[in-house]
Amino acid sequence: MISSNILTINSWIRSAAPLADVIVICSTKGQVLCVQSSSEFHTAELKSGMFILDMFKSYKEPLTQSIEDLLNNQKSNWLTMNCPGKEHALDWRLSTVVIENKNYILLQGHHCNRQLHSELDPLTGLPSRDAFFEKLKELALPSGYVCVVDIRKFKDINQTYGIACGNEVLNGIVSLAYRVFKQARIIARLGDDQFCIVGDSSYTEEIKQFIADLDSPVYCLGQLIKVDAYIGSCAFPETVSTLNEAFEGAMFALQAYKDSDENQLNRNWQFSSNDYRKKLRAQKLKDLIGPAINKNEFYLLYQPIVDADKNIVAVEALMRWNSSEEGPVSPAEFIPIAENNPQHILTLGSWALRRACSDIAALPSSWGDLKVSVNVSPVQFKKPEFLQDVRDILRLTGLSANRLQLEITEGVLVSNPKAGALMLTRLKEMGITIAIDDFGIGYSSLSYLKDFSLDTLKIDKSFVDDIVSSKKNNAICASIIDMSNRLVLKSTAEGIESLDQFSALKELGCKSFQGYFFGKPQVLKDLLKLG
Ligand code: C2E
Ligand code: CA
Ligand code: CA
Repeated sequence: MISSNILTINSWIRSAAPLADVIVICSTKGQVLCVQSSSEFHTAELKSGMFILDMFKSYKEPLTQSIEDLLNNQKSNWLTMNCPGKEHALDWRLSTVVIENKNYILLQGHHCNRQLHSELDPLTGLPSRDAFFEKLKELALPSGYVCVVDIRKFKDINQTYGIACGNEVLNGIVSLAYRVFKQARIIARLGDDQFCIVGDSSYTEEIKQFIADLDSPVYCLGQLIKVDAYIGSCAFPETVSTLNEAFEGAMFALQAYKDSDENQLNRNWQFSSNDYRKKLRAQKLKDLIGPAINKNEFYLLYQPIVDADKNIVAVEALMRWNSSEEGPVSPAEFIPIAENNPQHILTLGSWALRRACSDIAALPSSWGDLKVSVNVSPVQFKKPEFLQDVRDILRLTGLSANRLQLEITEGVLVSNPKAGALMLTRLKEMGITIAIDDFGIGYSSLSYLKDFSLDTLKIDKSFVDDIVSSKKNNAICASIIDMSNRLVLKSTAEGIESLDQFSALKELGCKSFQGYFFGKPQVLKDLLKLG
């Protein structure tokens, strides 16, 4: 595996080969890239990755001196030649030396005067990071495509097979990149195991080819190695407006590719401006959420949960954030962000629970048996301290435990069943009821239904949505309701928006209902029509 500019050089010197016993190709810094020998004479010591001076240093002193002169002295008999065809190619210097009656042809990558070539990566001969950015500035493309490639677990390759092998792998990747991205305007090495390819046309097909070619393991210094790569790409002006932005976009797509599930088929390497905006927004909200907690920018709304006669039997507390900088932010957006910082979600979750309990406890006695259902994040539920927090809140607010329902998701029980069971038992002992939220969309394991003491299954809105038009969704709702009845659990259907859905669910035996059809989340006073 050698890079294609070396291959080009190879073909150029093939005619000179009969004159030489050994041909050594080395990088600008004298690192050996490739050795070709008509005999095995001395070449065992000349391995890819080693420095040519080190090899010659093993000879007698005067000889070492003369080689060093040869390599360092610009006025020596180096022959400068330009690698044909490729803009990014190195200039090379050629020299011959006779050692112990053997003819050596030394071919070394040479720093030429052009600024572009001032920072060439010695191993691959590619522009390195600084030169890449210089070149990117120079390229005035009306449209373009940037692709970044990052070798997966390259460190492991180095550690397992050795540096020389790692170097071969890198050169192999470069060689493949040249072969596949034929029209590339720049191929550069950005870092240890990261490469960037810039062109002026779409590379979708090339990237597919690149990935497919990487898929087969390669022999490298006698070892069979499988190389995997992460890829990110970005096209401009389709998704961004400048080449620099396209580079940033490709780096973003690369990170998204790294973060995506490895087992996912057809992982996406293409930059998505939608994802990018989401990421920027998430970043912004992440920075705002801490100060917003201190500024009390959060409040609760309540959505009614009704029985078959549309009487309100409970309310679900739903958190809202009215950001002083971003305006209203949906909990579907900010809760996952808050969950990334345990301190944030623990503070918010505890606040919501306290607020909900005190709001309900303060209702007039005519609402004396109204229940409140509060969402509990897995982060909260997994903390042993949660139990004491709930106890303290009930004591402080004076709400009786049987008026509190906690909504948890299936995942929290499946991920740590032992701790989950213990937490549930303690909560139940206090008199609190437990609902499984978004039932049916999480885990397929149903065994937890028999292992844990639960009270309610909340049928996810996605099944309710098409209950009238889809026989399958109707069957799923019927099964969940039937199963709840048999397990002596209650079922609450979520997201009901129409009379038809309500009627269909009633017919299936569902006993409690929630959705815009009965009332949107609203201020408690308005919902209960309190004066
Ligand atoms: P969820 O617990 O499944 O809450 C139901 C969501 O569906 C609420 O969205 C509610 O407004 C919405 N919804 C109810 N009925 C209908 C309907 O008929 N049509 C439509 N289109 N939507 C309906 P919301 O308030 O935006 O909350 C989104 C999610 O954020 C909640 O989903 C819950 O997972 C989370 N969340 C909200 N408040 C809290 C909280 O205090 N703590 C935690 N940990 N999560 C919360
Ligand atoms: Ca809920
Ligand atoms: Ca839900």
